[in-house]
Amino acid sequence: MINQDTTTDLDIVNPTSLSDETLFEATLRPQKLAEYVGQEKIKESLQILIDAAHGRKETLEHLLLYGPPGLGKTTLAHIIAHEVGVNIKITSGPAIEKAGDLASLLTNLSENDILFIDEIHRLNKTVEEILYPAMEDYCLDIVLGKGAGAKALRLDLPKFTLIGATTRIGLLTGPFRDRFGMTYRLDYYEEDEIEKIIARAAKILNISIDATGKNEIAKRARRTPRIANRLLKRVRDFAQVKASGKIDKDVARQALIMLEVDELGLDNNDRRILEALIEKFAGGPVGISSLAAATSEDSGTIEDIYEPYLLRLGLLARTPKGRVATPAAYDHMSANGGPASGGKKTPQKSKNPTLL
Ligand code: ADP
Repeated sequence: MINQDTTTDLDIVNPTSLSDETLFEATLRPQKLAEYVGQEKIKESLQILIDAAHGRKETLEHLLLYGPPGLGKTTLAHIIAHEVGVNIKITSGPAIEKAGDLASLLTNLSENDILFIDEIHRLNKTVEEILYPAMEDYCLDIVLGKGAGAKALRLDLPKFTLIGATTRIGLLTGPFRDRFGMTYRLDYYEEDEIEKIIARAAKILNISIDATGKNEIAKRARRTPRIANRLLKRVRDFAQVKASGKIDKDVARQALIMLEVDELGLDNNDRRILEALIEKFAGGPVGISSLAAATSEDSGTIEDIYEPYLLRLGLLARTPKGRVATPAAYDHMSANGGPASGGKKTPQKSKNPTLL
C-alpha cells in the first residue's frame, strides 16, 4: 500500500494524534527558500540548481538529503517543489513494499514532478533495483508472468526528480548513492537560527513571547527546528495555564523543568543513555547493542535520534571499541544528580513523552 503521508514521525511518542502533529508541522512549514532559516550553503546551491533547471527547462536532478530527524529535510523538499512550480508526491521507504507500489507511484507522476521518499534507507532491495533504471533512463523494467512464459517489458516514465531523505546515509549502497546528482547534509542549527524559527512560529501561532523566552527555549531545543516548535507549543500551554499567557525567560524555564528538558536540551532518555554508559559500563567503551539492551531502547533509535546530539555536544565519543562517556558527560550528569554524583538521583524512564 502506498502511504502518501510523511512518515518520519513513526517513532515519535505522544503527539495527541499523528494527524494533529502533521497539521501542526504543516502550518509551520516555510513555503519558500527565503523563509527557510539557516543551512545557507545548501540554500545557495539549491537556488542555482533550481534557476539552472528553469533556464534550460530541464528536470531537476535527483537529490539526496541526509541528517538527523527534524532538521528540515521534508520541508526543503516541499520548498523545492514550490520554487520549481511542480507537484510533489510524498512517500517513505517502508511504505513502498512491492515493485508494483513503486510502479504505480512512478507511472502516476507528471513531467518534472518530484517524488519524495523519506527514510529511503528502508527501501527493500528489489524496489531499489527497479528504481535504478527509473532514475537513470526514466523507464521501468517489468517482468510479466513467471517461468518460461515470462515477458520483459520496458515502460517509459515521465521525467521526474527523486528527492530521497535519510537519517542513515551509511545504510545506502554506493551504487544507489551514486545515482543522485547532489547530496546535501543538513547540520544542526545555530542557536540564533533556532531563535528565528521560534519567532516565526510564535508569529504564525499568535503566541506572545519576549526575547528572553525565545532564547531560553532555543538553548534547550537541541538545535533542531522540530523540537523548537514543539517546545514552544508546550511552553505556550504552560504559560496559559500557570502564568499570564505571555512567555518570558522565567515561564519558559519553569515549563522546561516540568518537561524534564535540561539546560543542554537533554531529556530523560538522553540522560538514561549517559547514565547506563557511566554506571553500567564504567564509562565504556561499549557496543551499541549492549547500550541498547541496558536502556531498553532500539539500537537504531539510539544511533538515529539520541547519539548524534550527544556526539555533537561532546558528551559521548565513538571509538573503534565502542561508545565512551567523555569527562563532559560525567560533569553534566553530576550536575544533574546522575551517577557521577554518587547516584543520589538517577534518571528514570520519563513520564513525559520524548520530544524527539
Ligand atoms: P525532517 O524531514 O528533517 O525530519 P521536517 O522538514 O519535517 O524535518 O521539519 C520539522 C519541522 O521543523 C517543520 O514543520 C518545519 O516547520 C520546521 N523547520 C525545519 N527546518 C526549518 C527551517 N530551516 N526554517 C524554519 N522551520 C523549519
